[in-house]
Amino acid sequence: MRILVTGGAGYVGSHVVWDLVAAGHEPVVIDNLSRGHAQAVPSGVSLLQIDLADKEALSDVFERFRPQAVMHFAGSSLVGESMKHPELYFRNNLSNGLQLLACMVEHKVDKMVFSSSAAVYGEPEEVPITEEHPKAPTSPYGESKLFFESMLRRFDYAYGLRSVSLRYFNAAGAHPSGRIGEDHTPETHLIPIILQTALGKREELSIFGTDYPTEDGTCIRDYVHVCDLSSAHILALQFLDDGGRSEVFNLGNGQGFSVQQILSVAEKVVGKPIPTRRAERRPGDPAVLVASAQKAIDVLGWRPSFTDIDRIVESAWNWHKNHPDGYGPRQ
Ligand code: UDP
Repeated sequence: MRILVTGGAGYVGSHVVWDLVAAGHEPVVIDNLSRGHAQAVPSGVSLLQIDLADKEALSDVFERFRPQAVMHFAGSSLVGESMKHPELYFRNNLSNGLQLLACMVEHKVDKMVFSSSAAVYGEPEEVPITEEHPKAPTSPYGESKLFFESMLRRFDYAYGLRSVSLRYFNAAGAHPSGRIGEDHTPETHLIPIILQTALGKREELSIFGTDYPTEDGTCIRDYVHVCDLSSAHILALQFLDDGGRSEVFNLGNGQGFSVQQILSVAEKVVGKPIPTRRAERRPGDPAVLVASAQKAIDVLGWRPSFTDIDRIVESAWNWHKNHPDGYGPRQ
């Protein structure tokens, strides 16, 4: 299938592009490269440096490439940044996203797989979190993902544009080929920060909050391998192509690990202690986030292959130790 992948030079998007190629699909990537990396896109796949705000350029891609489906990863994804600059999130994730949807309608493209987030739920009332859990996002980032999901429902009703929204929990790890992995600037995520500390690129890991109501006082999250996220996207595409109706699915392993536990796993994987310091809680961080991904397992036939946290951290370490500076300077 010919697939337009927005944000395909980013962390999750690039892993999906590699898997689309391996599965015999024909992806074309558009990315404004503000945070993505051209080097993450496989050679042989067209990468067009386009911003979704550029209506003419976008329309031109639809006309030239004639995609049969869109996978939509482009957008801003930092909770903290969204608290300080909500306008960025409403502009990039909603206004630009709306432009993409309008373009799809205009060019009669009726299938989208959307990169959503567990941030749509906010502070959980119960775990594991199912798709029916109340949605009460605590940040403009989470709100932007939830509102976009609502727009998708409306576009299905009005124009028959069917979509699958995939609500990721904590994406982690790197491609087994060792060629692509996680490289954010600024880096805010736990596992890369721990591994950069192990590499001596940071002095210490700040543990944000040690007084949460959890066994060891640190936050619990559900880490899911980026290749497992990727396989869910390919299944979602197949689901829509087979005539499936619009759906939302959680993607997580259903197992929670505390910051302290992740640190211990990482120390075992890298073979040395990692310096830490206690720090204040990070605003907006819920104590526990753990997914129920039963619906994706039942409906999409999703079978995550990295269910062992040691393997997830090993896979991330394999990338970081071989790419201590990520993709290196921007090209
Ligand atoms: N965390 C931490 N120190 C860091 C980065 C993250 O203690 O330098 C904690 C954070 O408070 C959260 C967990 O690690 O409880 C996972 O954070 P991350 O930013 O990786 O993902 P999030 O859950 O925010 O999407």
